[in-house]
Amino acid sequence: MEKVVILGSGPAGLTAALYSARAFLSPVVIEGPQSGGQLTTTTDVDNFPGFPTGVTGPELIEHMKAQVIRFGTRFESRMVEKVEKEEDTVVIHCDDGDPVRTQTLIVASGASAKYLGLPSEKSLMGQGVSACATCDGFFFKDRNIVVIGGGDTAIEEAMFLTRFGKTVTIIHRRDSLRASKIMQERAHANPKIRFVWNKEVVEVLDPSKGHVVGARLKDTKTGEISEIACEGFFLGIGHTPNSSFLKGIVEMDGQGYVKTLGGSKTSVPGIFAAGDVQDPVYRQAITAAGSGCMAAIDAERYLEEMSHK
Ligand code: NDP
Repeated sequence: MEKVVILGSGPAGLTAALYSARAFLSPVVIEGPQSGGQLTTTTDVDNFPGFPTGVTGPELIEHMKAQVIRFGTRFESRMVEKVEKEEDTVVIHCDDGDPVRTQTLIVASGASAKYLGLPSEKSLMGQGVSACATCDGFFFKDRNIVVIGGGDTAIEEAMFLTRFGKTVTIIHRRDSLRASKIMQERAHANPKIRFVWNKEVVEVLDPSKGHVVGARLKDTKTGEISEIACEGFFLGIGHTPNSSFLKGIVEMDGQGYVKTLGGSKTSVPGIFAAGDVQDPVYRQAITAAGSGCMAAIDAERYLEEMSHK
């Protein structure tokens, strides 16, 4: 029986591991398919304290990992399918091998990129459709690229894609951006970035050709249909929490974000949550790390109480 199992190896999971390991709780981190979480697909991180000249997402994760390994954290690469509570034990069922049994579970499974849900988008995935500029931008050298969305993710993706693309067009469904002011300024100052306002995508063109050649757009004010030519079609429209394996176990909101009460406690004693899986508001690396610390402290106190039962 483990004392602390942490699901997820982004800043929330790794900070929870750091605090648990230093409290001699020998944590196990179960990593999913994207080891290191969303930061591994980010470029420069300028807003994580302690790095005066910035740091890349993958570097930041590497530093965090080295730090937790130094204190004896163990890592397992498995996909969690279901979590159950049996009296005082949390049972974690994975897609392979025996279930993991633990006294406490810290869920730090993060969030994944959202897609528009168009059939044409799905069939052209990997053929010009992507939600990860860092992963796929390189394939669009000197090509025309569009980015969908008006928040920080869309702007960040667009800025990165200007390294490769001939043009980068941000298509937004309204006429003003949601992104932070500094990101907006950077985007407006970049000569490669153009904006198309008040348009939603109704179809990615052209599944019959086997690769993206453009997008069909509908004006959100007039309903007018138009087309834009592009070879790269990038999504930057936000994220969905990775919480499906907890459905029916812990309380969640309508979007699937795990509800936390008084710090990191979920509705089930012994199960704690940290990072983007429980945070629809802040969603920053630093807030994720902070909530990972809170979850480790909450788990440690829970274990202490249980030992006096
Ligand atoms: P947001 O929810 O902030 O923005 C999503 C954007 O996508 C909005 O502009 C929204 O439009 C648009 N959108 C959503 N659904 C659709 C759809 N179906 N069709 C068309 N457009 C759609 O998500 P982000 O991922 O951009 O940011 C989340 C959080 O992460 C924020 O707090 C942000 O500050 C932070 N972040 C910070 C970064 C940094 O500091 N470097 C980088 C990336 C994210 P509308 O505006 O009309 O709702």
